[in-house]
Amino acid sequence: MSGVEVVFSALKSLAELGGRFAGDKVAEKHIEFLRDQLTVVGQSYAKAEEKAGDLERKVADLEAQIASEWKLFRGVYFRLLPSGKMDPSAHCPGCRKPLVNRLVYFSGEATDDYICGVTGCGWHGQNIGRPEALFPAVAKEYGVELGGQLV
Ligand SMILES: [Zn+2]
Repeated sequence: MSGVEVVFSALKSLAELGGRFAGDKVAEKHIEFLRDQLTVVGQSYAKAEEKAGDLERKVADLEAQIASEWKLFRGVYFRLLPSGKMDPSAHCPGCRKPLVNRLVYFSGEATDDYICGVTGCGWHGQNIGRPEALFPAVAKEYGVELGGQLV
C-alpha cells in the first residue's frame, strides 16, 4: 500500500468513526482536526512521490548520458568528447580522473601500469597497456578517432 493509499484508508476510517460520534461536539472537532491533518499529509506525500518520480527519471537520463560518454576498456575509463572523438587519456575507474602512466624509474620509459594521483583514491592497475598501444586500441574498439591532447 502506498503512502497516499494509507492516508485515504485512514480518512475513510475517520469518516466511519465520525458517524459513531455524531452529536458529540468535542469528538467531532478532534475527528475534523485529524481529517485536516491527514489531508495535509496526503497532499505532501503525493508531492513527494511526484518529486521522487521526477528525480528517478533525471537519474536514469544522467546514467544513460554517462554510459554513452564513458567507455570501459581494459578496466579503465575513456571519455567520448562532444566532437565524437575519444579523449586519449585513461581515467580512473574509481574517481574518473585522468590516470598517470607509471614510468620506469631510471629510464622514464612508459609501462603497462597506471596510477591515480587523486588524494584519497589511490587506484592502481597493472597490465593495461602502454599509452602508444592502448589509446589507438580503445579508439579502434569503439570505432572513433583520438581527439584532444594526451594528458
Ligand atoms: Zn582515482
